[in-house]
This record gives sequence, structure tokens and C-alpha cells, in this order.
Amino acid sequence: MEPSYCNGMGASCCNGMGVLDGEISDGDIDMNYHLSCLNCGKVVEDNYTNACSSGCDALLRTEYGKRLYLKELPGIFKFMDWLPVEDHLPVDSAPITYKSKALASEIGLKNLYISFSGYWPEKGANIRTCSFKELEALPTLLRAKRVGNDTLVIPSAGNTSRAFSQISSLMGGAVVTVVPESCLHRMWTTEETGNVCLISVRGDYTDAIGVGNEIGGLDGLVSEGGVKNVARRDGMGTVMLDAAVTTGILPDHYFQAVGSGTGAIAAWEASERLIRDGRFGDALPELHLSQNLPFTPMYNAWREGRQKLSEEDMHDAESAINMIRADVLSNRAPPYSIKGGVYDALVATRGRMYAITNKEGEKAEKLFESAEEIDVDPAASICIASLIKAVEKGNVGGEDRILLNVTGGGYKRLEEDYNLCEIIPYLCVNKDIEIDDIEIEIEGWVEQHV
Ligand SMILES: *Cc1c(COP(=O)(O)O)cnc(C)c1O
Ligand SMILES: [Zn+2]
Repeated sequence: MEPSYCNGMGASCCNGMGVLDGEISDGDIDMNYHLSCLNCGKVVEDNYTNACSSGCDALLRTEYGKRLYLKELPGIFKFMDWLPVEDHLPVDSAPITYKSKALASEIGLKNLYISFSGYWPEKGANIRTCSFKELEALPTLLRAKRVGNDTLVIPSAGNTSRAFSQISSLMGGAVVTVVPESCLHRMWTTEETGNVCLISVRGDYTDAIGVGNEIGGLDGLVSEGGVKNVARRDGMGTVMLDAAVTTGILPDHYFQAVGSGTGAIAAWEASERLIRDGRFGDALPELHLSQNLPFTPMYNAWREGRQKLSEEDMHDAESAINMIRADVLSNRAPPYSIKGGVYDALVATRGRMYAITNKEGEKAEKLFESAEEIDVDPAASICIASLIKAVEKGNVGGEDRILLNVTGGGYKRLEEDYNLCEIIPYLCVNKDIEIDDIEIEIEGWVEQHV
């Protein structure tokens, strides 16, 4: 696939801003990066390292070269300079950025840009697992492959596990994924996946994370790392990179629905890198983050100005999670207080949080789908509803440059082109399962498949 700043969008997207013209490099730039601790500043070499060795309660951050040089590589690998990988895959998945006409005029905005991570080939969007989780899977699987032979364990509410299942199958590798039983309908791919060990948990997303953490401690297996994994954050950061190189400048506002907030932290980090680069403006985009009522733990804490989540924020979590339409947003242990996490991102960007009802989400979804003519993930609908609310409240100006992150979509569009392969669980377990009870079966699977 030809690299392009516009993703083949024609005149509607990038207004001829060839800001990086003539600067495509083909590998002559020093690719080295290192990690540094946001608390103590310690510099760490990357051996799939996800935590500071001094035990700091802080994220590690990747330090790259100051300037972003695009590479002539497929998909997000054009941003390889700012990904923690030394290799690429022949996969053309990437976010696209285009200027909205229909939705923008419906809600009265002059400069609304949509970042779409999903399947919409007419616009050049080729993410066949239909969400921005695939942007995390690509660099993470490469990063893990570089340092060792351990098989990754990925707990998720479904979208992440689907993305990792598909990409690891393309790479010929194996993964163990752990998802709540209620999310099994999300476990399909467009590729045959012989090497996915899917474990279904009778519990919610956070229970799946708990079981996944235990499995990650078994021989030959390693936990993928979640928000602490820099490859996940920098992979998602390509949303902001793509927007910046497409429009030539950082947006004033960034809108996203959050469950863990990993994508929001990634947007902030990518913005800081782009400011340091010097060619994309010097103001951090304000983060506008949304959650789905009645499960809105980060919204609750932020509204009260607290840096820590409390018991109250999770009040009646189980029934609240059962009620939300966008259940991929149901993380009960989000990285809100950790140094470099969501709270810090909101403070640094003078951000805001929104709480959106199912009804508002549904209404926004219908409006988006009829205006932009593509189907979207219910989580993206929460974000679209938050934009409508922000306009109503005057939190954004009609002329402001806005980036709306449509984090998933094109499911219906995909089914026109592909037959989906369902992934069948290898084990179904209770949320309070003793790891000893499944250890032999899982290690046996790994021995046979890796
Ligand atoms: C996971 C997900 C989100 C939330 O992303 P976080 O990084 O967990 O906050 C939003 N939309 C979709 C479609 C997702 O799959
Ligand atoms: Zn440290």
C-alpha cells in the first residue's frame, strides 16, 4: 500500500497540507528509543519492561527522537519512528483522519475532524477487527516477539482480545486471551485462528483481568501489561499522529470514550511529542473524556476534584455495569491515579469528563450513522454524544479544531466483505477459580501450540 498523508481521502480531508513533504525517510534515521520512569526519571532499557525497577507507582514512557519522520511502510508502521518496535508487519491497519461535513453541519461545527479506527475501505480504513485495539496489538506483539518466547496473556472485554487474536494469527504466533462470558460474541476474526487459547470467565471485565493476571504468572506465559505496556499506548497514540500529519496541526480538543483511559493517556503523550517536534503547534489538545452512565467511576472522581478513586465511585458496580450499553467501557480498576495516568492527563490538558446515558449514546449513534454513513461501536457513540453535549454547553467553540476519536466501527461494513470465524473457548471458568485447577490444562495448551 502506498503511504499517504491523506489516506486516499481526496479533497475533503487534509486541505493540501503537505507539512511533511520531502521528509519521508527509509530507515537512515537512528531508530533507538529508551524508556524512562515518570516518577524517578530512571532510564530503562526495554526488555518488554513495563515497570520501574525502583517500584515507583508511575508509568514508564518511551523516549524517541525529537522529530517524527514518516516511513514508507504499511498502516501504522509509517509512524515506526515513534513506536517501540524495530520491525514492521505487512498489515495496512491504521486510523484515518478526515474532515466531517455532514455531522459537523448537523451540530454546528466548522472544523470537526473524525479519526476513524475500523473497517471502511472506501475511506482507506482497513482495521478488520473494527476497533482501535488493533493499533495496540500490532506494536505489542512485535515488541514481545523481539525480547522472548513467552506467550502473551490478554484479558479484555472482547475488542482487545479479538485484535490480538487476529494479529497474532497473521504473525503465526499464539496468544492466551481471557474474556467475560458475556463478551464472547466479540470473539471472531477474519482470519482462521488455530493458535488462540480463549478462556471465558463467568464475571465482568475486571474479573477477567484478575484471572488473566494469574495465568500470566504461569510458566511460558507473560501478562501483556495493559496501560503500563508502552507499545499499547504508543500504538494508540498513532490516532493523534495521524490527525496531526493529516491536518498539519494539533487539534484544540480531543474527544474519546474511556474505559481504562489508556487511549486518552496515549493521546496526551503523543501530543507532547508532537509539540516537542515543533511543526504542529505548541498547545496541548484539551481532553474531553466520556463514560457511560450509570458506570462512570472516573467521571465521579474528576467531578469532585479527587486524584484517587473511592469506593463510592464504584457504587453498585456489578449492576451498573450490567446496565451500560457500551460495556467495553466497564473497567473497575482504571489507571486514574497512577503517575502519568488519566488524572494527570486531565490536569495537564485542562480536560473535562462527561457522563452519558444509554439513550444519549443511542441517539448520537443514529445521528452519526445517518450523517457519516458508517456504523459505529456503541463506545464510540458515547464519545459522539459527549461532543454534542460539549457543543450545547459551550465547552467548545464553533470554529475550534476538534478531533473526534471514533474508536470502533464498520462492523456491518465488514460483514459485506468477510465471513467471520468465531473463536471457541478452550476453557470456561468461574471468576474465583484457583489457578492451580487450570494450570495443567493451560500449560499443556502452551506446550502443544507454541
Ligand atoms: C477499549 C475501547 C474504548 C476505551 O478505550 P480505553 O483505552 O480502555 O479507555 C473505547 N472505544 C472502543 C471501541 C474500545 O474498544
Ligand atoms: Zn521510578
